[in-house]
Amino acid sequence: MVATAPVEFESAELSQKAKDFLASPKKMLLNGQWVESASGKTFPVYNPATGEEMAQVAEGDKEDIDRAVKIARNTFENSGWRWMTPSERGRIIWRIGDLILENLEELAELESLDNGKPISVARVADVPLAADLFHYMAGWATKIEGTTIPISVIYAPGARFHAYTKREPIGVVGQIIPWNFPLLMAAWKLGPALATGNCVVLKPAEQTPLTALRLGELLAEAGLPDGVVSIVPGYGETAGAALTAHSDVDKVAFTGSTEVGKLIVQAAAGNLKKLTLELGGKSPNVMFKDVADLETAIDGAANAIFFNHGQCCCAGSRLFVEEDIYEEVVAGVTARADKIKMGPGLNPDTEMGPLVSQEQLDRVTGFLDSGYSEGACMASGGKRLGERGYFVAPTVITQSKPDMKVVREEIFGPVVVAEPFKSADEILPLANDSEYGLAAAIWTKDIAKAHRTAELLKAGTVWINCYNVFDSALPFGGYKQSGWGREMGKEVLDNYTETKAVCVAL
Ligand code: NAP
Ligand code: MG
Repeated sequence: MVATAPVEFESAELSQKAKDFLASPKKMLLNGQWVESASGKTFPVYNPATGEEMAQVAEGDKEDIDRAVKIARNTFENSGWRWMTPSERGRIIWRIGDLILENLEELAELESLDNGKPISVARVADVPLAADLFHYMAGWATKIEGTTIPISVIYAPGARFHAYTKREPIGVVGQIIPWNFPLLMAAWKLGPALATGNCVVLKPAEQTPLTALRLGELLAEAGLPDGVVSIVPGYGETAGAALTAHSDVDKVAFTGSTEVGKLIVQAAAGNLKKLTLELGGKSPNVMFKDVADLETAIDGAANAIFFNHGQCCCAGSRLFVEEDIYEEVVAGVTARADKIKMGPGLNPDTEMGPLVSQEQLDRVTGFLDSGYSEGACMASGGKRLGERGYFVAPTVITQSKPDMKVVREEIFGPVVVAEPFKSADEILPLANDSEYGLAAAIWTKDIAKAHRTAELLKAGTVWINCYNVFDSALPFGGYKQSGWGREMGKEVLDNYTETKAVCVAL
């Protein structure tokens, strides 16, 4: 095993603004007011770089969810929100994007502190992408259109009708988001819900509630009417479960594990809520021997798995390399893994921070243990780093077998399994051999082969000669057990509207 660079444990300081936010009481947002939970209980939030507690946050439970849903229902049915002009709504949503950019540095610091991700990444990706999503969705607010439909009504000869469709908001939407991109996931969920005129109850992940709470302050500053968005931090098993089971919630949008996604499907059955689910992945990253530039492709393969410490639902965690270049690619990815600068997210030169929580540390090291005991080889990493915080070395696994846990299951950490393949014919069944279907990538300079392969990969996103390219205009979501529905792009608007057909006898 190769020695990984030592972890830097000393962390840079927060700015005064971020310190002030961290020191302020963290309550829940109900009807425009910041309030304690009904039980008065709070829960701790930990710094993943040290394992130390850094804040207490109001702990929402069923009673708080009931209050939030009542507020959302009342705001939806009785306030001016639904009847606000699309242009006014669009301006508020645009302003949310502007305020995110105006507070970019503070949000980046809070995100990095809470999740552990490098501040350099939060500054150029998480926060600006969240702002961009609101700006993009602001434009859609004025373009939620129906159609006029020439109908025939064959059993009413001679009768004439004017028929048209309208897209209407679904109503009260529960949104449950994960900890890997806390602010960005809040944006992906809130942007389209607001553009289409819904009211929302948002539950952030227990590990990372900070930026959602700061975003709640910005929503009010942007002029969003009270009650349109409530934010209830709390645990999934209590607050999350209450939201998904609530009989007055019309739709739930969830991002997280496939396991919890299935629980949500069951909980939603009571009142047959609409559901969108963005779940796990085990995405194949396929490198043919005719890559245009091997160094670029190797960088791409490393980025595909190590970006955000592998805590990406679309992480390129199964790297398939055509056998002629396999050794060279594995050596290249391994060399990059060993050079990654590990440290607290807040340090400006950190390239990879800690995993998000003790639970994730245990999960990921558990997968590494199973890899060792099933006979896989760790070409790099393969262990926890240090005793403090939740650091795991970037890991490259070779000599795996198709039925090993590390090959089949989502690890959600910086762990890639590299496998050689023999030919273009062999790769498709291998790449598609997964219960997931979120993303995939292909590296080749043969354009026809790239498009042919893209067509046959069972995945919601296929990247060709690139990886982790996201855009507010590009729909994202999964085939198979990676989910239902799409986020972003114009596709997401269908998931937040009902179609009403209106028929007028002339
Ligand atoms: P998770 O349990 O699926 O959490 C996602 C969200 O669902 C959180 O807000 C969570 O609340 C909430 N939740 C949990 N149980 C719930 C329930 N019974 N009803 C309603 N909501 C519930 O994910 P995790 O435990 O944080 O991570 C476990 C694994 O999930 C990871 O290792 C990874 O494989 C996968 N994951 C995938 C994504 C993704 O982007 N697709 C994101 C995160 C995790 P709490 O925060 O209180 O748990
Ligand atoms: Mg959980």
